[in-house]
Amino acid sequence: MAWWRVPTSPPLPNHALLEAELQALEGFRADMAEIEMRGQELEETHARLAAALHTMPHGLIMLDADERVVLCNNRLRALFGVDPDIVRSGATLAQVVDHSVALGNHPSASTMQALTAMRGRMAHGVACAFEQSLPDGRLLAVHWEPMQGGGWVCTYEDITARVAATERAAHLARHDSTTGLPNRMALIEAMQVAWPSRRGSGFNLLCLEIERFQELSDTCGLPVADELLRLTAERLTACVRGGDLVAHLRGGGFAVLQLASANPDLARHLARRLLDAVQAPLLVRGRMVLPSARLGIATRDIDLLDPCGDALESAQELLRNASLAVTRAVEDGGERITLYAPDMDRRAQARHLLEMDLRAALSAGQLRVYYQPLVSVARRSVVGFEALLRWEHPERGFVSPGVFIPLAEELGLITDIGAWALRTACAEAARWPDSVKVAVNLSPVQFKRGPGPELQHIVADALGRSGLPAARLELEITESLRLMEDAHTLDILHALRALGAGIALDDFGTGYSSLSYLRSFPFDKLKIDQSFVRSLPEAESTAIVRAISALGASLGIATVAEGIETPAQLAALVAEGCDIMQGYLFGKPSPACDIPAVLVSAKLPLSG
Ligand code: C2E
Ligand code: MG
Ligand code: MG
Repeated sequence: MAWWRVPTSPPLPNHALLEAELQALEGFRADMAEIEMRGQELEETHARLAAALHTMPHGLIMLDADERVVLCNNRLRALFGVDPDIVRSGATLAQVVDHSVALGNHPSASTMQALTAMRGRMAHGVACAFEQSLPDGRLLAVHWEPMQGGGWVCTYEDITARVAATERAAHLARHDSTTGLPNRMALIEAMQVAWPSRRGSGFNLLCLEIERFQELSDTCGLPVADELLRLTAERLTACVRGGDLVAHLRGGGFAVLQLASANPDLARHLARRLLDAVQAPLLVRGRMVLPSARLGIATRDIDLLDPCGDALESAQELLRNASLAVTRAVEDGGERITLYAPDMDRRAQARHLLEMDLRAALSAGQLRVYYQPLVSVARRSVVGFEALLRWEHPERGFVSPGVFIPLAEELGLITDIGAWALRTACAEAARWPDSVKVAVNLSPVQFKRGPGPELQHIVADALGRSGLPAARLELEITESLRLMEDAHTLDILHALRALGAGIALDDFGTGYSSLSYLRSFPFDKLKIDQSFVRSLPEAESTAIVRAISALGASLGIATVAEGIETPAQLAALVAEGCDIMQGYLFGKPSPACDIPAVLVSAKLPLSG
């Protein structure tokens, strides 16, 4: 009980009065201590609130019902650069706004106009959020919240960095980071947006593909490939008119959207300009590059009554058609500029079905390895077999390796298929006589770094599992790719050689740089390409075969001739000193079960 409320009546005796006074005094002391404690607590709470208020990331100002500042934090003062002596508790809104206007925070508005605009918002009496830009480029997110009993709490957040990051992310999602060009998504969006305004006219879409771009990237490295893309982007952009759009789709693929009536001639004209620009020689990071490119064109008239509802679908279809046309141009290798034709869809569909079948072929057990004899002239006997893949599809029948191997390479399936062929061939060869070797073809794709084990480990594994001595394995690589320019490939070849396997250069004489290949790696065998053998004993082919045999002899490399079908071809090859023969004359590729018979019968033609 508080001392001032000590009851005064009824009158008490003296000692009782004293007792009551003492009690009251005690109560007073306790109350004072409590008040003091509360005061301290209040002070602490106040200090904490002040710390929170001044360190919060938002600027905050609180106004009472009379538009006077109740409180305001340091962040708000810093955001607007205002004087703390002016923007402080007790100041009026008019004073604050006047000061802020004087500082230039409200360009092209007078104090009166700024104040009226603010009061206009407040007049609604409900919370509101909006953005305010400052003259120095910063952007603030503003939130005003009415308080019970009148007045406002207004917060201001600097969202400049956040908005810039969001815009950057949106830009990145629609642009390719290497070239800075719009990407596929942005191209489709651009067509979709422009669709209504193109009524009565149309679009021509040109897809351009830099040939062998992936190969260049693999052999010369990413920096060179990226630089080539950047320079190509510049060249393409320089060729088009304002309003037309250049986009980068992927790898060596670009697209140019021509805003013109659907007109193949107009598109071809632009296509030729683009080709001339892109194919001019280039110095890329000190390397002279001679890019070659092909173009596919698709055109689309947009009728005056064309509905805009399906603009997205139509844009996607136009891009698909132009892409199909360029794929056809690249695959056929004929005309550099190809116009889309509806039958391309059917061919693409057929290819897609083949792709799906091939993906399933290995696990469905449709792949087999056949073996074709290799016959030694000196020993007059079969000294080995070349392992050749066969795909027997339940409906398609036998699919030629010339069709499915390039497809498997493109789809990246050759790594698994090749490893399987290698394991199968080694296991089979382990059952043959010790004097008989097995030759297995390797695709350039198998040399590339990938997620799986490196080629030398795959080969070592196949040898280990089968128990086949490495000396009885020969690996054939083709010279069709710029494989040897890559140090990684050479490392693998040396590792394969170190295992004890022989390395043969297949299809010699047809590739990109036959002779320089011979300098870069000490091959064990050269396989003279069938094209030279086929036209034997014509004088020119005889001269080529003679030169290759002489080259092999002087370098200490054995020569193999493939594709021998006639005794006359055989006689010419023997005369030119070729060491090993392969061809239908000795035996066609056949399943493993036929090998015992082939080992006996295939010797005959040489003695004949
Ligand atoms: P290649 O390695 O040059 O194989 C020789 C090709 O010539 C084989 O074709 C073979 O059947 C064919 N051939 C052999 N003798 C004659 C003949 O007297 N006349 C004619 N007209 N042709 C003959 P195939 O089996 O169709 O293979 C074609 C190509 O597919 C092979 O050429 C090779 O590059 C590739 N290939 C086959 N199997 C594999 C494999 O397991 N892995 C890889 N990466 N490629 C393979
Ligand atoms: Mg071969
Ligand atoms: Mg060959």
